[in-house]
Amino acid sequence: MRKKIVVGNWKMNKNVAEGVALASAILEQLGGNGLDCEAGIAPAYPVLSEVGRAIAESPLQLVAQNCHYEDDGAYTGEVSVRMLDSLGCSYIIVGHSERRQYFGETNRTVNLRVRKALAEGMRVILCVGETLEEREGGITERIVTGQVREGLADVDDLDRVVLAYEPVWAIGTGKTATPEQADAVHASIRATVREMYGEASAEELRIQYGGSVKPSNAAELFAMPNIDGGLIGGASLKAEDFVAIVSAAG
Ligand code: PEP
Repeated sequence: MRKKIVVGNWKMNKNVAEGVALASAILEQLGGNGLDCEAGIAPAYPVLSEVGRAIAESPLQLVAQNCHYEDDGAYTGEVSVRMLDSLGCSYIIVGHSERRQYFGETNRTVNLRVRKALAEGMRVILCVGETLEEREGGITERIVTGQVREGLADVDDLDRVVLAYEPVWAIGTGKTATPEQADAVHASIRATVREMYGEASAEELRIQYGGSVKPSNAAELFAMPNIDGGLIGGASLKAEDFVAIVSAAG
């Protein structure tokens, strides 16, 4: 049985004070009980340290939104995996569609990041997903399969990888893939992973869905056989919505 995982991607929202307040509100609303699923929050880089302190004694994981693939050096504006490790991050989101779309990340540079993060002992959330044009062109499976194969090239530690299927047309648009649409892509991702790593690894792999997940649609998405939680953007910025989504995964 795969343990579901829900992560809130705060993107470029919330300064230090706002981030600490949001993290504290989430913890308060979760109550003192343990979680039945795994859950984490991904603040922007400058906010990681203080939010990390706020959630240190809690079951919430501290997640980074990206990393660089070199150890250190002349890469102005970039952040290394070791720096994120030193802040207490346990997961790093890699290959988010906004990174691919606005910052020129490709399957190759995404793969370099995945490998570096894993080599440093971190866990990775590898994002894949097709654009509207690709879906309408009938090439969703080809695009997503390519992203999975190239993103995981030369990766051995699949047990520290979570995949996130995020159709680009559903991110921040209010349009959600139907549970059936999403599950079909998740099943094809699992089939690709089965070919690459075998049956046992494919069965253990957790595949999150991301794209306008809200309290009102989370439960039906998470009930699908191949959907193992969610990567949540907009709805993770309100404590009560995020907590409702985490509860739907539990
Ligand atoms: C995301 O960016 O990962 C995401 C899923 O955003 P939203 O939930 O706002 O669509």
